[in-house]
Amino acid sequence: MTQAYSGGCQCGAIRYRFTQSPSGAHICHCRMCQKAFGAFYAPLVGGPRDSFEITRGALGTFMSSDQAERGFCPRCGTPLTFRYIDSDRISVSIGSLDNLEAFPPEDQHGIESRLSWVNDLGHLPDHPPTEGENEHADFIQSTNHQHPDHDTERWPE
Ligand SMILES: [Zn+2]
Ligand SMILES: [Zn+2]
Repeated sequence: MTQAYSGGCQCGAIRYRFTQSPSGAHICHCRMCQKAFGAFYAPLVGGPRDSFEITRGALGTFMSSDQAERGFCPRCGTPLTFRYIDSDRISVSIGSLDNLEAFPPEDQHGIESRLSWVNDLGHLPDHPPTEGENEHADFIQSTNHQHPDHDTERWPE
């Protein structure tokens, strides 16, 4: 099931896969990950670099320090990879995997930058979709440009 270890960016210009299951799923609260992901923390999971390949397109990269390189889609901006340049491992953003449900985080890194309220997010009240929002979601779906959660022969179709 190599399918389970594939992923890519929102627009579909970049696709990647691991030939073995990535491991060490975690979230990183460090300020660099917050900024790079535009988020409260970064969800990451990784594997040996020789088990990872880009199967479509070419990553844009940014050296966020002399030690670390972050890869993203140059077309749509999705954060995709993180690696220390002297490491034989590479991590990907869990949200970019096709089967992200399979990679629950096991621990937290960068906790010195953890936002004071982030641990309470799971207790926020749910906002069930209204009928109007459901109709809007159907409309969005009918004009969807997001790549599906599986490899495609050609894209856009
Ligand atoms: Zn893209
Ligand atoms: Zn980090």
